[in-house]
Amino acid sequence: MTSPDTSCEGPTTPQLRSSLETFPPYVPGKAPKRIEGLTPFKLSSNENSLEPLPAVIDAMIAHAKNPAFYPDDAALALRTELADRLGVSIDQLVVTTGASELLVALTQITSDATTEAIYPWPSFEMYPQITGLAGSKRIAVPVREDGRHDLDAMAAAITDRTRLIILCSPNNPTGPALRDDEVRQFLSQVPGDVLVALDEAYWEFATAEGAVRGVDLVADHPNVVLVRTFSKAHALAGLRVGYAIARETVISGLLKSVIPFGVTDMSQAAALESLRHSDEVDVRAKEIAAVRDDFAHALRDQGWDVPDAQGNFVWLPLGDLSSAFEDACVDQAVAVRNLGDGVRISIGEREGLDRVLAVAAAFRTEHFG
Ligand SMILES: *Cc1c(COP(=O)(O)O)cnc(C)c1O
Repeated sequence: MTSPDTSCEGPTTPQLRSSLETFPPYVPGKAPKRIEGLTPFKLSSNENSLEPLPAVIDAMIAHAKNPAFYPDDAALALRTELADRLGVSIDQLVVTTGASELLVALTQITSDATTEAIYPWPSFEMYPQITGLAGSKRIAVPVREDGRHDLDAMAAAITDRTRLIILCSPNNPTGPALRDDEVRQFLSQVPGDVLVALDEAYWEFATAEGAVRGVDLVADHPNVVLVRTFSKAHALAGLRVGYAIARETVISGLLKSVIPFGVTDMSQAAALESLRHSDEVDVRAKEIAAVRDDFAHALRDQGWDVPDAQGNFVWLPLGDLSSAFEDACVDQAVAVRNLGDGVRISIGEREGLDRVLAVAAAFRTEHFG
């Protein structure tokens, strides 16, 4: 008999999956720097600048009494309300801890080392992370110069190993929304066994004529799944509630991947109450959209090339000058998001946006004469 080997020879670090080497971790938007005499503004995470509606806060308080119990795993009340409002069946819905968990689950149910995933770039930073983690080959298709998806190039990138395609409308960070007609034309070129996720995190802010409305697509296309969230227009980012709309077969798959009891009772109650006030949420989203349009207009008046902005953010394609622009904003106590190819500015209070406009004007003089 040999005695148990208690010595530690050989490699001293646990071996992790090699796919971890292929993508960077998610980097959240920074907090603003404190500067004496200047109100700080965080315009770096596309959060809603308005608080949730008062009735939503009341619902949270009412559901804050006993956290000893697990929440309703099925989120039945919330799914029922969503189903009624969206004209789908409750079996076509799954509620998740933010759209983020849903995106992870979508790659879990479609992707591994033998498959390929296609998404636009620049787009949401989680796409390379989740598809990379699954080990799948990543095809990041550059957006066009105007910030729109290059759907022809995305269709041309499909192979018999493609299992997941992600579309983002309005696209974070570049801004434009996809049009209904171009998405339908694209879907007609996608084989039926390829899952197409339409990420609609910002759909409530889109005001462009003909912008795609995912709910209209799900009925006609069994391979489409919508990714939605209460984080942005509903101003509930801190509560982590998202949901998918898809055919039952896709939802059944997702249910095997999501974390049980992920969405707390308080979060479910808040999302439900906010949904019941969808009209007010929509009015507020359109107010933010109006501020966005003014802000984008003011930037264009300064001479900036700003792509059509349809979310609650505006994109400045600054390339190599992105860090310099970010630093200039930091010096004015405003946090913006530097994504390497450009800088994304979330629509927040006017005072913060005015300060960015002043930075942008000085920046043009300094760098472009
Ligand atoms: C913010 C965002 C999400 C996810 O938000 P959650 O807070 O996890 O619901 C998903 N997609 C895009 C494009 C986003 O910008």
